[in-house]
Amino acid sequence: MQFSTVVGQKKVIESLIQTIKDNRVSHAQLFIEQQGSGALPLAIAYAQYLCCENRSDIDSCGTCPSCLKYQKLEHPDLHCFYPVNTNPRNPKPPVFSKDYTAEWRSFVSKTPYSSLFEWLKSLDIENKQGNISVKESQEIINSLTLKSFESAYKVCIIWMVEKLHPVAANKLLKVLEEPPEKTLFILITQDYEYILPTIISRTQVVQLDRLSNADVAGAIEKHHNIDSSEAMNYAKLCEGDYAHAQEMVHLGYNEEELMDNFREWMLLCFNRNVAGINSWVDETASIGRVRQLNFLKYALASFRKALLLNFVSLDVLPILEHEKAFLAKFTNFVHEGNTMQLINEFDLAIRHIERNVNPKIVIMDLSLKVLQLLIKKVPQGAK
Ligand SMILES: [Zn+2]
Repeated sequence: MQFSTVVGQKKVIESLIQTIKDNRVSHAQLFIEQQGSGALPLAIAYAQYLCCENRSDIDSCGTCPSCLKYQKLEHPDLHCFYPVNTNPRNPKPPVFSKDYTAEWRSFVSKTPYSSLFEWLKSLDIENKQGNISVKESQEIINSLTLKSFESAYKVCIIWMVEKLHPVAANKLLKVLEEPPEKTLFILITQDYEYILPTIISRTQVVQLDRLSNADVAGAIEKHHNIDSSEAMNYAKLCEGDYAHAQEMVHLGYNEEELMDNFREWMLLCFNRNVAGINSWVDETASIGRVRQLNFLKYALASFRKALLLNFVSLDVLPILEHEKAFLAKFTNFVHEGNTMQLINEFDLAIRHIERNVNPKIVIMDLSLKVLQLLIKKVPQGAK
């Protein structure tokens, strides 16, 4: 993987390259990202660049023996660890990352931007938690005590380090503090707050930027043969999450359908039609996680647009033709007395669906909250 294949992140790439040029590569780095920002492809591109035998000022060569092995994730000095669990092929614990090496290489080569959920799904364990176990931490330490085979550097990437068992994390403290010479640890996280402070204090933090809509749209246009305005529609809906954007492109989506579904739901909530809400929730719970996320993100964006219509005219906002009539009425029910709560409830529901909480419970709960919030009156003195 080369820097040229990484979406956006130009500033971070420049500063990583500079540390190599200045010979001050920090031996333990913590890449913090929001899902879909590309920390994994960036980490691999960085490691490949570090070990490339013929690197330029801006990228690895892509053709030297080291790069060729890195591109297949087969370099003997690259060690990757990631959350796993038992599956039909490996039914008995303990299971290790190395039990899934072939699956990992294929997954990362095809979809380097994918989510933890998609990784677990590819192993047929989407209903389990993925973990990095205490026994795995010994594997991590062992991999570093081996002398490097071919490169100057041994690289150890731990993906989703927040899934590291606390005992395993404690076992790694010493090696993080005093690693063998010419070793680079890259820890990747999407949940910074779940990482032990003792780990954080031993690493150099590299904060990735959330991808811009232009970055995501450009990448969709390039890789999926989609015209620029449609690519921008996908990007806006995904808010910087390229993993989600790719899932959406793969599934396809119809904005008019989303809008009709949203209108139906809001009418049910507004009319307090609990029986209707019940069957709507049943139906929505059955459409699959990615479609649920698309829908909830669309709904959230619609609330924001409806709120903005309190202050600006229809023509100023990027509202599609078929949304105009509904949003012009709906804006009367979205105001400063309920917007923040509505947005918080939608954010929470989206996080729960992303973390695989039962969709029926999440969406029913959200519907009841929306029902209560929509009938809230505009606060006195407003409007
Ligand atoms: Zn090279």
